[in-house]
Amino acid sequence: MKTHIINALEKHGAKVTSQRVALAEILFARPQHLSADALLEAARRAGVRVSKATVYNTLNLFAECGLVREVNVDGTRIYYDSTTHPHHHLFNVDTGELTDLPEDSVRLAEMPELPDGTEAAGLEVVVRIRNSRG
Ligand SMILES: [Zn+2]
Repeated sequence: MKTHIINALEKHGAKVTSQRVALAEILFARPQHLSADALLEAARRAGVRVSKATVYNTLNLFAECGLVREVNVDGTRIYYDSTTHPHHHLFNVDTGELTDLPEDSVRLAEMPELPDGTEAAGLEVVVRIRNSRG
């Protein structure tokens, strides 16, 4: 796991710092969706000394390297997903909980025509749910 991260960073020409490795170890300890704030909190609990800016920059870097997927749930909140293979999400707007949906659980009847010279690079669906009222 650690080697995978170091290789990905080096391939991208990014420096392998102890902070980056420490953040990666927290993030990739298990499949999870973390906001930058949640990762910062987890890092501090684990005794890793990092600034908020470092956490944000590191997450952006990991996303560029393809180590994490950014899941933008509502245009304001971004979760970082340690699972990078294609899948969809359920997002509960009441609880803020983000859950995985298998890739084959969503079927799109039709894809829009894509501009010439382009191809689909991915399709991700966030199904927003809320707790039933009343
Ligand atoms: Zn996910």
